[in-house]
Amino acid sequence: MHDNTYLPDHFLRHIAAIMPAHLSMDEFVASCRRPLRRSIRVNTLKISVAAFVARMQPFGWQLDPVPWCDTGFWLSREDESVPLGNTAEHLSGLFYIQEASSMLPVTALFACEQIRHDGMLLDAAAAPGSKTTQIAALMGNQGMLVANEYSSSRLKVLSANLQRCGVTNVGMTHFDAKVFGQWLPETFDAILLDAPCSGEGTVRKDEDALRNWSIESIDEIAAVQQGLLESAFHALKPGGVLVYSTCTLSLQENQAVCQSLQDKFGDAFSFDSLADLFPAAEKACTPEGYLHVWPQIFDSEGFFVARLRKQHSVPNTMFKPGKLGKFPFLPLPAKESEPMLREIEAAFGVVPQGNLFGRSEEIWLFPQLFEQVQGKLRFDRIGLKLAETFKKGYRLTHEWALAYGDGASKGFVELDIADAREFMMGRDVWPEQEAAGTGEVIVRYQGHTLGMGKWVGSRVKNALPRELVRDNNLFV
Ligand code: SAM
Repeated sequence: MHDNTYLPDHFLRHIAAIMPAHLSMDEFVASCRRPLRRSIRVNTLKISVAAFVARMQPFGWQLDPVPWCDTGFWLSREDESVPLGNTAEHLSGLFYIQEASSMLPVTALFACEQIRHDGMLLDAAAAPGSKTTQIAALMGNQGMLVANEYSSSRLKVLSANLQRCGVTNVGMTHFDAKVFGQWLPETFDAILLDAPCSGEGTVRKDEDALRNWSIESIDEIAAVQQGLLESAFHALKPGGVLVYSTCTLSLQENQAVCQSLQDKFGDAFSFDSLADLFPAAEKACTPEGYLHVWPQIFDSEGFFVARLRKQHSVPNTMFKPGKLGKFPFLPLPAKESEPMLREIEAAFGVVPQGNLFGRSEEIWLFPQLFEQVQGKLRFDRIGLKLAETFKKGYRLTHEWALAYGDGASKGFVELDIADAREFMMGRDVWPEQEAAGTGEVIVRYQGHTLGMGKWVGSRVKNALPRELVRDNNLFV
């Protein structure tokens, strides 16, 4: 029980006025004071759900399926001495710690039969990346996903999560998301706008979430949300699908934002009913077909999800191309890219997918669809940094290893748990069971990649980026 959860009276009065008749305020307050159940989502870019469940069973992990996400589970662990984020499986990107109700918007987006897994998608407010990584997994790293975030510090976390999870099809941008309708009209096949909000649904995780709650701040943020939704709508192709979601409960930030779009462009789109999204979804369904998840319904955080389909174009008075600056990359000529790809295949048995581009001492692997947005948007990072070059050759990156290392059929070394811990603590290791090799080597633990190393005699020299080095209390 979180007795300290701050639930001010004026907030409770506001909620009582909008609580549906079949739900009770007492249960709402009780659930706000109950700690959240821990939940995770298996990253199918790296491991199947069945293999993950089998792997975690010996460690006493109890995984109870989340009914609206076939890769999501509520988790209880017998031994919690190692923080979840320090387990080998988390460090090698096999799962993402994500609140169960926050898995709903992406489920709603992909439950639509028009969705193109290899299309051009936008995640307009993306950090820290729980939904970006969920989308990328459902796309199977195909097509391209533009992941935008306005806050610089959160952009770094997003980037780290994409790398850990082996995501390769994302272009990251750093703008106020209202630019997309202006700069890229009718560009995206599908859009997620998981909007900034007042976070009323998050009190079970953060007991101070409502410390600065006021009607005025809700109205203010609702105006921002309306602008973001209108812009996202312009950026959506006719025939495309858009999900609007928040982790808040007030009608102003949810139903009223949807209504504002309806008032402007109501004949150009329709909202879908999400009542059949999963068994029992109707318990959270509003008359308009939105999901308004009160925390007591599924014992989760509060959430709101609406999905619309755009039927036809609307006049766009916003359109104005963005200023780009000089694009610093050049496609890598075939005489450089082909031998490099052949060498990587010969050494590791995997072929990197995508188009190779270079800038100064770096070689990058861009998503296949990148050319559709090239010259239209400035990116912070595109795809994946494959290698750094130096006079006599190149060095493959950590992020390449995290994306491709699990699929390598050679050129890897498998560590035991003691060496794996040492490796994650930034130290060199002397793997006993293995014959020493030469050159760069993918370092794995139980079949999944931790990073890159380099053979020096019988020692594997540690090439883990310094910011990823951990202190102790690692692994289960
Ligand atoms: N989708 C994320 C996830 O699942 O991990 C959570 C997104 S959070 C609800 C909203 C995000 O929007 C925050 O990271 C915030 O920094 C960002 N944001 C705030 N104002 C924005 C704006 N005008 N344009 C784009 N992003 C914005």
